[in-house]
Amino acid sequence: MDEALEPFEFSEPMPCYESNRLLSSDLDDGRCVHCQKFLTLDCPYIGHFLGEEDE
Ligand SMILES: [Zn+2]
Repeated sequence: MDEALEPFEFSEPMPCYESNRLLSSDLDDGRCVHCQKFLTLDCPYIGHFLGEEDE
């Protein structure tokens, strides 16, 4: 049986989405906006927050 799939199997956060430990758990929304790389060039999603989209 493959029913024993871990709940985190599909909700496992990407490295980018790892919560910023410097932020309080109150601010930890598990999203990139609070990731450890937020507002750094290491964040592959930085472009989203800069509002820059290739058209
Ligand atoms: Zn990020």
